[in-house]
Amino acid sequence: MSQNPAKIQIDSKRLSVELEHLATFSDAPAPAVTRILWTQADQGARAYLKSLSDAAGFKWREDALGNTFIRLEGTDSSLSAVATGSHIDAIPFSGRFDGTVGVLGGLEALRAVQNSGLKPRRSLELIVFTAEEPTRFGVGCLGSRAMSGALDAAKLESYTDGDGVNLNDARAAAGYSGSLEGLVLPEGFYHAFVELHIEQGPLLEAEGQGIGLVTAIAAPASLILKLEGEGGHAGAMLMSLRRDVLVAAAEIVLEVERAALFAGSEDSVATVGRILNHPNNINAVPSSLELGLDIRDIDALRRDGMVAQTLEAAHEICTRRKIALEVGWLNQDPPARSSEWVLAAARAACLELGISPREMVSRAYHDSLFMARVCPMAMIFIPCFKGYSHRPDEFSAEADIGCGVEILARTLLKLAN
Ligand SMILES: [Zn+2]
Repeated sequence: MSQNPAKIQIDSKRLSVELEHLATFSDAPAPAVTRILWTQADQGARAYLKSLSDAAGFKWREDALGNTFIRLEGTDSSLSAVATGSHIDAIPFSGRFDGTVGVLGGLEALRAVQNSGLKPRRSLELIVFTAEEPTRFGVGCLGSRAMSGALDAAKLESYTDGDGVNLNDARAAAGYSGSLEGLVLPEGFYHAFVELHIEQGPLLEAEGQGIGLVTAIAAPASLILKLEGEGGHAGAMLMSLRRDVLVAAAEIVLEVERAALFAGSEDSVATVGRILNHPNNINAVPSSLELGLDIRDIDALRRDGMVAQTLEAAHEICTRRKIALEVGWLNQDPPARSSEWVLAAARAACLELGISPREMVSRAYHDSLFMARVCPMAMIFIPCFKGYSHRPDEFSAEADIGCGVEILARTLLKLAN
């Protein structure tokens, strides 16, 4: 049987039309897209995807959290499947390409393989992950986290949204029942996972590169530091008596920057993006304060080193200034490395099309970060206009999307045979 990948034909025009249609399932006026987990817009988008899957003759199934699996059967059902996928939820007033390119593009890749007449040995599965964005329940990559075992059923059931609706009630209202215990993928369930995504950065466009291959995904440690000092009148309180939390915070912010600057890699970044100062009056000494820290790297040891260095400095600063310090952790997910073997398949696919891909790291994180815990993983990036993402003018050209999908389809075939 011939496995000539020249038979792979991507219908970029159809894909464009489908991306445009998917964007109409939105709670914001076009071109903005707002699609939050299990709203009517999200449910409509899910139904649309399933209708496209049905039209193509693929089988689909869903788990108790609404993760959706669309399957093209391989010739050997005893082998584990090769998977691709991404997300269709969108943060408020964002764009139409983040996540959706990997979902509808993944569907187009499966259709292209099917139409080529080539028969992959392993089955191919497109995964539509539930809630990659943290909008509704405050935790990113809800679906893939649960599938990888990073979130257990008890933790999932403890989540409530901003309106006080419990996750269990929310999913029941959306038609998803059944135990949350069975979400974790069994060991070896997938042979490999490849996610196609827009870059969300400016490099590919600026360098005129068509394809990026992601070698590592950075992950943040997110912490909240709570400082408790003593407030008072800005005129009456003598300097020698002060326990000013904002001055302490100023020192801490500089230490956060220093930790990243001296970590030794451009992949080390640390940010204090949030500060809540109380009472925030011009004539009052600040008495309590919250700092939100985001410290990222593609190397877990280096990142955790930055965190440790920052916390050590914060404790020293607060002790010296007689300020009480409380450290709260939001998350500390490990970064992930792409599999060399999956990357090799993607590189070979690029070579067939005469494309020399740019190797890069992903500074945003994706469902792939969690899929890396259960199988070998890699990501394919395509350029997007000025690197814009999470805004209505997010844009990727039809030709770039088509090229990414063709690389994806060829990569999936190589991994499946
Ligand atoms: Zn995304």
